[in-house]
Amino acid sequence: MKITEVKTYSTSYPVKEPFSNGMRTTRERAFGIVEVITDAGITGWGEGASLPARRAIDENVVGRNPFDYEVIWNALHYAGVDAAGISAVDIALWDIMGKTQKQPVYALLGGAFRRSVQAYATGLFRRNVSDHTAALVKEARGYVDAGFKAMKMKVGFGPGYDVTNVEAVRKAIGEDVLFAVDANCAYDRGSAIAVGREMAKSDLLWFEEPIAADDIEGYLEVKRALGIRISGAEQLRGRWAFRRVIQERAMDIIQPDVCVCGGITEYRRIHAMASANHVRVIPHMFGTAIRLAATMHLLATLPDQPRALEPFPALLEYDMSENALRTELAKEPIRHKDGVVAVPQGPGLGIEIDREVLAKYTVG
Ligand SMILES: [Mg+2]
Repeated sequence: MKITEVKTYSTSYPVKEPFSNGMRTTRERAFGIVEVITDAGITGWGEGASLPARRAIDENVVGRNPFDYEVIWNALHYAGVDAAGISAVDIALWDIMGKTQKQPVYALLGGAFRRSVQAYATGLFRRNVSDHTAALVKEARGYVDAGFKAMKMKVGFGPGYDVTNVEAVRKAIGEDVLFAVDANCAYDRGSAIAVGREMAKSDLLWFEEPIAADDIEGYLEVKRALGIRISGAEQLRGRWAFRRVIQERAMDIIQPDVCVCGGITEYRRIHAMASANHVRVIPHMFGTAIRLAATMHLLATLPDQPRALEPFPALLEYDMSENALRTELAKEPIRHKDGVVAVPQGPGLGIEIDREVLAKYTVG
């Protein structure tokens, strides 16, 4: 079996109602997608936060056997392709391997620990409204009504906004719903500690990316000062970027993104490193239907951390924001039911790409 061609698609979805996290306002969602074609008539799909250069693909991917995924990973790495670009190709190779074996990707990875995954609603962004608190409370109650037992809210907008709204949302959803906050690196250490102390009174599941992603000493300081779970690392690329974070336990939970960190192959290495250091892994997910499917297969294969009668849940980040490339790109979209998502059971990633939807949002 040989790879005969790799097509790349730069896609963009224009957001109708812009929304903000602590760092930026989103008006457009952009994703790199690859289609890897083989001489066996089997095609695999992958997604990356960036795309590899055409020359790197032609010299290191085309002509190879897709089962040589480690060889291809290394060839791309040494050709200077960054981990996000490798992610796209790597995920497509796993899709091909699963389709060839007529097995879902999770089965190739050693089997599923669970058939379904509890989802947490990622939403509660800051929007252009006159009353933020009222809008956030309404949105949060909507998630509870839809069956979600966990959700995450964006903070990082200053103590006034953060503390008031975290308190209001916690009050609105009740004490049984798991509730995390995410500052997207918007604070420095001092502010993160001061605001974190106030927000922690609202019983937080975790405080995500309180400060700059590479400030390892800062994470240790914030973690010790607050005594609540600190998470992050969604932007880190390649195992080398994760090494110190994991070894020094700068975060209680790392959140690698399969389309940023280096694909399914690199994810497994990062997970092994985290497991050896007793650091929890909960994937980051903010992308198309391809990233959602790949993340579900990884979540199926994560053992409980640690094994317990009441283990810390394996949680799927369920993006509630508007994005047709997530909700329409797969012919049968992956959806939650009462806040729970079933692991895809079809061969490979278990999704079929709608080429009309892909063409509609392809910009290059
Ligand atoms: Mg985040």
